Amino acid sequence: MDALPTHAGVVVVGGGILGTSIAFHLGEAGVRDVVLLERDALAGGSSGKPIGGVRGQFSDALNIRLAARSLTAYDRFAQAFGADIGLEKVGYLFLLRTPEHVSSFEAGMALQQELGIPTRLLSPGEAHDRCPFVDPDAFLAAAFSPSDGHAHPTAVATAYARSARRRGARIVTGCAVSDLEVRGGEVVAVHTSHGVVRTSTVVCAAGPWSRGIGEMAGVALDVHPLRRQIAFTEPLATPAPGLPFTIDYDSTFYFHNAADGVLLGMSDQAQAPGFDRDYTDAWLPMLRAAAARCAPELAELRVRDGWAGLYEMTPDANALVGESPEVGRFLYATGFSGHGFCQAPAVGEVVRDLVLGREPFTDISPLRAERFAENAPVLEANIV
Ligand SMILES: Cc1cc2nc3c(=O)[nH]c(=O)nc-3n(C[C@H](O)[C@H](O)[C@H](O)COP(=O)(O)OP(=O)(O)OC[C@H]3O[C@@H](n4cnc5c(N)ncnc54)[C@H](O)[C@@H]3O)c2cc1C
Repeated sequence: MDALPTHAGVVVVGGGILGTSIAFHLGEAGVRDVVLLERDALAGGSSGKPIGGVRGQFSDALNIRLAARSLTAYDRFAQAFGADIGLEKVGYLFLLRTPEHVSSFEAGMALQQELGIPTRLLSPGEAHDRCPFVDPDAFLAAAFSPSDGHAHPTAVATAYARSARRRGARIVTGCAVSDLEVRGGEVVAVHTSHGVVRTSTVVCAAGPWSRGIGEMAGVALDVHPLRRQIAFTEPLATPAPGLPFTIDYDSTFYFHNAADGVLLGMSDQAQAPGFDRDYTDAWLPMLRAAAARCAPELAELRVRDGWAGLYEMTPDANALVGESPEVGRFLYATGFSGHGFCQAPAVGEVVRDLVLGREPFTDISPLRAERFAENAPVLEANIV
């Protein structure tokens, strides 16, 4: 761990995939006095998820642009950072059961293709050829993009942090932010468990804990934590490498390879908001019932273990990225609601540009935190 300095040009709060990407991109742009504060270990929050999906299949143009740029960054990551991030370009396969879902995905597909994501519609038979576990009689069509896949978020966060450090950033772990000092509408200092850092710029990348960090500065960040679980099956009797990241859009049940077995996941509508991150088997009957509806063989597999983390939800299930209009130089990149890994590389670039007063590669204003008060939500259909 680096020592806490008394002064910093920029303080980034949170050492997950977003905070480390931001610190790296600032360092790469020549900003030398960046300090990243993480109260736990790097990737100790949601970014500790063992495997994360990366996809360009969104319905909103801004989400597609952020994802497309991030997919390119992930494709180049191993070479650029000399780090194995376990990237598997297996594609995402959305199974569609109703004519309404097929039409809405067709509309999204046209936009994705225009923005460089090669999504196409598959028949049930073609989907079954790509993913032998799915029951072709259970759905009408499937959307598939070969440029999607999955990788290891912790490996990415670690590589970003290492490269940020090489470029002069200080990475201070085990150091909790306890207060933000704001004077005359400007951030002037960050108070921590290890002392005070004077600074004029703070970036909140505290994931599910961002509401509390915003409150310290008097900025409303409408983010709430929601537990999400994943389960790992025992090894498959007959290996099935290269399964796409397959999602039953109707139920949100999803699966893909994880080591010799399969990772299973699903949104639990009964889950109440809160910071509980304990894994429990109580959801397995619901998971098995959903599996039985689209991939019956998977419903029978024994579950070896599981992992629980937090989705960082916003009211429209889309990220908050921007700078507060009320508190000078308080910026934020949070509330990704389950797609933070997908968008972290591009958002790191965007936040770098906001800090440096440059024009980002795309207009990020639809993701401003004030949009809820203005009744201007982001309308994204492909949330899982
Ligand atoms: C089960 C599950 C499945 C998911 N699947 C996917 C997926 O397939 N694809 C995808 O793109 N995304 C997925 N996500 C979401 C993704 O993991 C998150 O969007 C992403 O990790 C958020 O990163 P972050 O850096 O914003 O937050 P985090 O990784 O949570 O980092 C925030 C950090 O801030 C630190 N912090 C908090 N308060 C303080 C403080 N006061 N002082 C100092 N540090 C503080 C925390 O310790 C934490 O390390 C999934 C999430 C879960 C739970």
